[in-house]
Amino acid sequence: MDASGTVASGDLLVRDGVIVALGAGVPAALAALPGGRADESVDASGAFVLPGLIHGHLHLCQTLFRGLAEQSDLLRWLRESVWSLEAAHTESSIAASARLGLVELIAGGVTCINDMGTVGHTDAIAAVLEQSGIRAIFGKALMDRGAGVPPGLCENAAQALESALSLHRRWNGAADGRLQVSLAPRFILSCSEALWRDVAAVGAERGLLVHTHLAESPTEAREVQAMVSSSAARYFAKCGVLSERFVGAHGVWVDDEDLALLKRADAALVHCPGSNLKLGSGLANVKRWVHEGLRRGIGSDGAACDNRLDTFHELSLAALISRTLDPGGYLTARELLALATCEGARALGLGATTGSLEPGKQADVIVVDHTAPHLAPNETLDPYTTLVYAARATDVRLTMVAGRILYRSGTWTTLEPERVASEARTEARGLRERAGIGRAQG
Ligand SMILES: [Zn+2]
Repeated sequence: MDASGTVASGDLLVRDGVIVALGAGVPAALAALPGGRADESVDASGAFVLPGLIHGHLHLCQTLFRGLAEQSDLLRWLRESVWSLEAAHTESSIAASARLGLVELIAGGVTCINDMGTVGHTDAIAAVLEQSGIRAIFGKALMDRGAGVPPGLCENAAQALESALSLHRRWNGAADGRLQVSLAPRFILSCSEALWRDVAAVGAERGLLVHTHLAESPTEAREVQAMVSSSAARYFAKCGVLSERFVGAHGVWVDDEDLALLKRADAALVHCPGSNLKLGSGLANVKRWVHEGLRRGIGSDGAACDNRLDTFHELSLAALISRTLDPGGYLTARELLALATCEGARALGLGATTGSLEPGKQADVIVVDHTAPHLAPNETLDPYTTLVYAARATDVRLTMVAGRILYRSGTWTTLEPERVASEARTEARGLRERAGIGRAQG
């Protein structure tokens, strides 16, 4: 996934967490090592070696809500279930929720996430992120107003921002630079104009990523129009929020002027096809983002609105949506895989760190087996097509972040999946009781 689209057969050498050589460069780099050989070798025959997947929009706090918030329509889903569940979280339930999500993500080849969190308990999420070994940008959701927002999630704007900055002081750059803290105002309907303006000012002053939701559903777009008399992108432009540090999830309901504003600011959008389909939010036209030259990524959103945290599933949904929207000019398989790798990294401002296999970048690497019958028989003719249209998360054989193996052939090195699942079931029971949500509404 480098700029010239190299596909080659060969070795990759990692040292001190960094990719030092590829292909033809490996023998010389090996010879220069003490002893002339690597400490450890991984056999990647019968597999694709790829940059680790970048997950551009996630709520780890919602993994425990999987199957509990089955409404369609974003605003009903938030107001009737999700916000009460988020307000009912404790430190221990949110940690369980984050661990459960990470078990699935890491085994599915995700090496970097952009997490929005909820209003409280972000330190508990941060501790899990640190321990898991994943690379992450995360923030606490900022909410200071809004219909249906429970008191437990509604903060005073100044206090909310101060607590985000104090997270930044504690965690930004932690875990050898793997963790980065963002500002995460949730969306227009839950934030005052004063808060947006403060976010814009503080974000610019400290160089922080601003992660939010943008133009996700038609009912939301109507409420936004009624509240601020403009589209989300125009409102963000007016408040000074759009910049090269802006990451907006969804971007389904954007017109030409919105896209032009986003492009002018060099802002990024993140496609969440599974969530958009499940909540009935609509079909984002990502090919237009590509035509406009917008920075862009892909994510699943939380497990409450997209029950699978599976980036391969998202890629195949994105592919099929693009073909349906424009049978004559859909996204190519390479453009799609780029959303989860090089483009996804650029969207998060991490293009120089990760997203492609190139010497000098962090060793965020995955090995995806291509010997399974569901990928045969033409699996190596066009790796992009195989990976986007046919591969599954379960084809991932190994996941490495900064040179550390986090998952290998059914074994996690930093998380214990059986214990994580059992703890999640116990914590989910307590959470349902506290939130007064008894059964799924599917
Ligand atoms: Zn979201």
